[in-house]
Formats: sequence, C-alpha cells, structure tokens
Amino acid sequence: MRIMILDARYFKVFFIQILIASFPFYPASEVNELQSLLDQVSIDRINNHIEDLVNFRTRYALSENCNKSAQFLFNYFSSLDGFYVTFHNFSIGIRDPQFSKNIVALKKGTDRNNEYILLFAHYDSISNIPLSSAPGANDNACGVAIMMEIASIINKYSSNRRLIFIAFSGEELGLLGSRAWVNDNYEILGDTIAGICLDGVGRGEKISIIFADEESTILADFVFNMSIKLGFENFEKVNDYRGLTGTDSGAFFGRGVRIIRLWDKDRTYIHTIKDLPETLYPSHLVDTTKVILASLFYLLNKPLEILFEKTYSEYSKKNEIGQINKWIIIGVMLLISLFLAFYKKRTSYSKHIQKERNRPFRKF
Ligand SMILES: [Zn+2]
Repeated sequence: MRIMILDARYFKVFFIQILIASFPFYPASEVNELQSLLDQVSIDRINNHIEDLVNFRTRYALSENCNKSAQFLFNYFSSLDGFYVTFHNFSIGIRDPQFSKNIVALKKGTDRNNEYILLFAHYDSISNIPLSSAPGANDNACGVAIMMEIASIINKYSSNRRLIFIAFSGEELGLLGSRAWVNDNYEILGDTIAGICLDGVGRGEKISIIFADEESTILADFVFNMSIKLGFENFEKVNDYRGLTGTDSGAFFGRGVRIIRLWDKDRTYIHTIKDLPETLYPSHLVDTTKVILASLFYLLNKPLEILFEKTYSEYSKKNEIGQINKWIIIGVMLLISLFLAFYKKRTSYSKHIQKERNRPFRKF
C-alpha cells in the first residue's frame, strides 16, 4: 500500500510538469484594449487643436507668434498626466542670433525604458508674407494636432518603451529644429526602435507612408499593415528619398534609425495664406490618428522580433526550436519520474525482503 502511494505522488508531479510545459500562451484581451484606445479618437478635438494653432496667424520661426505657439504647446503637453515636458532651444538666424524652441514631451517606459519610440511633427509655418500671415493648416498644424490627440489618449496607459513626442520649429527654414535636436541627442539614436514623422496629412488622394532604405522599409511595412488591419484603404507605401529627407525625418535618415514620414503629397495650398482648416479632409485626420495610435500601441510594448516582418521568420524558427526543446524536456522529465518511481519501489521491496530475512525464526 505504501509503495502505491509513493508511485502516485511521482506521477502527480510529472503530470503537473506536463501541464505547465504545454500550456499555450494567449495575449490577454489585447484586441479589446486597442479598440478602447481607437474609440477615444475625436475629430472635434483634432479640429480644435488645428484651429488653436492657425489662430496664432503665423508660426513663422522668426516671428514672435511662433514662440507664443511654442508656449501653447508646452502648456498643452504639461496639462496631460504622465509627460515630462521641456523646451529644446536652438539658434536660428545668422546676422542677429536668436533662439527658437522645440517642445519635447517624454513619457517613461516600464521594463524597456532604455528603448525609444519617437513621434514628431513641425509646428512652424511659412508663406510669401510669413511675418503677417502663414496659417499652415495642412503644413503642418494637422500633424501637430494628431500628435496632441494621440498624447491625450495614450497618457492614460503605461507602456514598456519610452515614448517621445517632439514638436519641431525651424523646419521651413531648413530642418533647423530637428537637426539641432538630433545633434544634441545623438546618443539615444542607437536605442531608437522607430521614428514617425507627420508632415502634411490632411488632404490628397491617399496618405503615403514614405520610406527610402531597408530600415525604413521594415517600419513602413509595419505601419501599412496596420492600416490594412484597421480596414482603411486610403494609405499606400511609397519609396521616395526626397519625400523622406525633405522634412524633419531627413535629420534622422541615414543614422541607423528606422524612420518614416506620413504625407498626402498635396501641394495645392502649401506655403500660401490659403492653407486653411476648411481645406482639410476630416477622414484623413481621423484615419491617420488611428493608424499611428494603433502602431504606437504595438511599437511601445511588443518585442522587436514580432514587431517587424523581416525578422519575423527568424522568430518563428526560434519558436520551432523552443517547441522541440519543450518535448525533449517533457521526455527527460518522464524518464526521471519513471526512474524515481521504479527506484523507490525496488528499494522499498528489498527493505521488506531484508526485514523478512532478519526476522528471527520462531521456535516451535
Ligand atoms: Zn511641412
């Protein structure tokens, strides 16, 4: 009877081990969480942000109003919980040195805080009469407004990686703000997983996801697939070196960073006093916000191997090896359990025989 109890215990341990080893991994209600994020996107709020920015009349980097709009953006990001907001000042103009301001809003990550995801858009504008009027609704109040909307939604959630929003100035004068920021933060580029630039996404037939090298292709594929998954048909992938380097993404390009730009390629009102909010397409604004929000949701949290398709095949190979290892472990555990059960049975049995042998003979 004692032997039977010992046997049962060893087999019980073995079965628990089998259960743990073969238990499948299911991501916990990930889809529902993403949907709840997307449901919060509001076109009214996005339009209000665009109006607020256009109401500065001009955001030309050499104008006083540009600095007023910088303060407005600083206050906005500071009003959201979870962001650490700073001005990044840089020199602008040669004859009469003056400063312009980038606004940097940083949200800490949890267990991958040393890895960065960047989302940026320039807030400065230009026209043929830049000191008096440069509304810059499509170029690029809309990109900044989308960033503001995403920040107000994502700030309620914690994420693994560190997220940095940057509103750049001086883009229209030659990518001055983004170049200065990249020079001053060169050391984090190696740890930057992805950078997304929004510049001119409010009009045009389609929103182009612009890439130009192998690294940016991987990220463009990822964001484009996200637009398909969300059921949008107004996005396309475009290999366009000039499109990528002609704006702030150019300051990052060629420095080993996965960088893309979203752009409508529409030049109808660009750099004119007619670049006004009423010329924008609300559907482009909402769809772009959702695609970028969903992309960030994964970019901020998932391991690199499952984020980007290029490395995905390597990941599945590793997974196959993992599966084989699992069955080897289960086999070894089975052998150990059988050995222990058999060994205990034998030793108990031989002890029993020994006892019998040592028992003194009864005298009749
Ligand atoms: Zn622009």
